[in-house]
Amino acid sequence: MSLQDQNIAILGAGRSGLGAARLARLHGARVTVMDEGDPARIAPALEKLHAEGFDTLPGAPARDLVVRPGEWSRAVISPGLDAGWPLPKKFTSAGVPLTGEMEFGYGFCRTSLAAITGTNGKSTCTEITAAVFNGCGLKSLPCGNHGVSLSEVVASGENYDVLALEVSSFQLETIRAFRPRVAVWLNFAPDHLDRYPVMEEYFSAKARIFENMTGEDLAVVRAGEPVNSGAARRVTFSAHGMEADWTWADSVIRHPGGEAPTGGIRLRGRHNMENLLAALIACQSFGLDVPDMLRAAAGFEPPAHRCELVREWRGREFINDSKATNLHALNACLLAMDRPVILIAGGKDKQLDYAPLLASLPGRVRAMVLIGEIAPALHSLFSPHLPCERAADMDEAVRRAARLSQEGDLVLLSPGTSSFDMYTGYAQRGEAFRAAALSLH
Ligand code: ADP
Repeated sequence: MSLQDQNIAILGAGRSGLGAARLARLHGARVTVMDEGDPARIAPALEKLHAEGFDTLPGAPARDLVVRPGEWSRAVISPGLDAGWPLPKKFTSAGVPLTGEMEFGYGFCRTSLAAITGTNGKSTCTEITAAVFNGCGLKSLPCGNHGVSLSEVVASGENYDVLALEVSSFQLETIRAFRPRVAVWLNFAPDHLDRYPVMEEYFSAKARIFENMTGEDLAVVRAGEPVNSGAARRVTFSAHGMEADWTWADSVIRHPGGEAPTGGIRLRGRHNMENLLAALIACQSFGLDVPDMLRAAAGFEPPAHRCELVREWRGREFINDSKATNLHALNACLLAMDRPVILIAGGKDKQLDYAPLLASLPGRVRAMVLIGEIAPALHSLFSPHLPCERAADMDEAVRRAARLSQEGDLVLLSPGTSSFDMYTGYAQRGEAFRAAALSLH
């Protein structure tokens, strides 16, 4: 597809926007990157764009922009923006086609894709998938929602055998031709109610991953997930005792070709075993052997902030699971813990219902320390059932948790919601936990 002399608007000045801008220019387009955000806040991104010679419209000029029909050939929207926001709407109202960044990158991509979606575990599964491919001699890269955007990878001109692509529901909202060779559906649970007032809309956006796949493609789906994977061949997995093509129990993987022990695998918890199973099925479909794949996966540690051990202190382990930004993730992490837990939870009020968590607490959680905007509500819910304290910040939360803990316990930060009431994101929250844990003496 040539974009020669076309005027293309890139909406969003973040990393995805930069990738799309590079790719559009590479194919001959005249590119303008727009972002309604405060220019002071996006200054580093703007600097990068200017250094590469891109025209930008940040802040007020983007808000005041008048889009006339015929002026723009296309607008490419970054996943952080909602198509219903004023800037994208100006383009759609003027009849300008709106393309998602991933779909845009896909249009120029000549590499096979193993795409991974789900409410939780996407980044971990994407990383395992890329690590297994690379460890077995197929050149791969984890990309998409996680790290480098697809447009950026394609624009780089670097050749890969297969890309491990993390795909969010936001990216899937705007696909048209996107067709991965393999699509993984890890799980589905309530989340992002701030962006999807109706849960079915979140589900339907995610399920579009299978939309253009044919009988030559493979759908890797967690057993029991009520999702229609369309025309693709379907292979299922479970580490939770469900009947499936690939299962994990008692440190053994059972698959259609036999059995394999997972002794060398360093991932904690059944949820991570499901991430592993899904990755192995995806990779096997590219002709790899199970023993080779398990060798490549041995020693793989989950990325930072995902059930990550940050410190041992006076017989307690401090575990950072700051990436648990919904209840389903918190619950999965809790079920993976094999010792009594002092749980630090809370953050932004995303309107999630925490009551189902009550069933997982007995026998597992000794006490809770609650933080953030949602702390009062959580306190009323949980304090009739177990000791609960509130803390104003992470230092206080960690100190209180340490005081409540006994030798042999785990102090676990697994907030179960997002962090934006107190932090710039889950990474900053995880770093605050790490620093607080390391400062105990
Ligand atoms: P995502 O990219 O989908 O947010 P991550 O791999 O970053 O997923 O993991 C986020 C959190 O979700 C982890 O901190 C962990 O608590 C939880 N988690 C990871 N994998 C799974 C899974 N397969 N099922 C349920 N929860 C999971």
